[in-house]
Amino acid sequence: ISALPALDASKLTITRADPTARAVPDEATACSGNETICTDHMITATWKAGAGWSTPELKPYGPLSLMPTASVLHYATECFEGLKAYRGHDGALRLFRPDLNAKRMLMSTLRISLPGFEPAELEKLILALMAIDGPKWLPTSRPGSYLYLRPAVIGTQPQLGVQAPKEALLFITASFMPRMDLPVGGMKLHTNPEDMIRAWVGGFGYAKVGANYGPSLLATQEARQRGFGQILWLYGPEGFCTEAGASNFFVVWRTKESEGAKLQLVTAPLDDKLILDGVTRRSVVQLARERLQNELEVVERKYTIDEVLEADREGRLVEAFAAGTAFFVCPVSQIRHRDQDVHIPMIKGESGQYTAKIKGWMSDIMYGNEQHPWGVVV
Ligand code: PMP
Repeated sequence: ISALPALDASKLTITRADPTARAVPDEATACSGNETICTDHMITATWKAGAGWSTPELKPYGPLSLMPTASVLHYATECFEGLKAYRGHDGALRLFRPDLNAKRMLMSTLRISLPGFEPAELEKLILALMAIDGPKWLPTSRPGSYLYLRPAVIGTQPQLGVQAPKEALLFITASFMPRMDLPVGGMKLHTNPEDMIRAWVGGFGYAKVGANYGPSLLATQEARQRGFGQILWLYGPEGFCTEAGASNFFVVWRTKESEGAKLQLVTAPLDDKLILDGVTRRSVVQLARERLQNELEVVERKYTIDEVLEADREGRLVEAFAAGTAFFVCPVSQIRHRDQDVHIPMIKGESGQYTAKIKGWMSDIMYGNEQHPWGVVV
């Protein structure tokens, strides 16, 4: 245990922005431009080897200052998190399982040689930002609205030597985000080209480091040109299904037995470290195990695109959905793999009853229709 100052949310200093300087734009305007609109404030804290963490500061939102030689700009020493703050139908402002984001951020931070911190302190800082910006930017007059919180840590040491940075910056912003949770008619996925994979065994696909995202854009761009929304990332010669865009991926199918076939909710496992341990994924798995136990079996295992195609051919594929903070629980209506297509029937914009049920339960927790320990009130 280091004797150097740790990240300490209780020391947060507060410098307020002029509350009248900016009006809150309506959501459509806020999300239409090329720039993400952030709230009035952000939180920053700096770290130096040998000195530890600085006092965190809450201050007006604005640019950061970095030297061109900063580690992050050259060696991708960066990691981040993404979570939302929800204005409930009961008027309360909530985060959804922020402890999981804080823990995952620590894991990513350490993977990319950035300084550690106590996850509970990060969680407190996120809550502090929402306590100040929440009332203005998520007014009680807008139940059902949300803001997107983006904590990040970057290596700032101005030194081109390839080494673990000796200086770092933590920052947290809150912003509007376009409503991505319901692409009209469901999400269309295209599998990745064979020469563009997202993650590999022994790699860092399980960490939320920026280095996982930039290189995935090319495949996504090509898929978009062909009318697909996201990539279904496959792995290995077997074509294991891993993730859908920046979301986890689930299918519901019936097993093959002619008698006693089971209904299963299937998703890729965490143990080979190919996928992100999504907060939404975990919640889907937990809720389905608790609340659908008499209806389906929840299975975390490797499964291939050929199994999905086969289930579709044999009429056993029931539903498919992507699950993540950005898209929430989003039904998948089509998957294209090479020259083969899977079409999943859509009923009123939902791919099926289980997707709808799980989505409903989670949304009830997020927006306070169900009081649940996962909904953390600011
Ligand atoms: N996979 C990847 C690669 C992601 O970036 C995300 C978004 N954080 C997810 C899955 C979903 O994770 P979560 O449910 O925590 O948003």
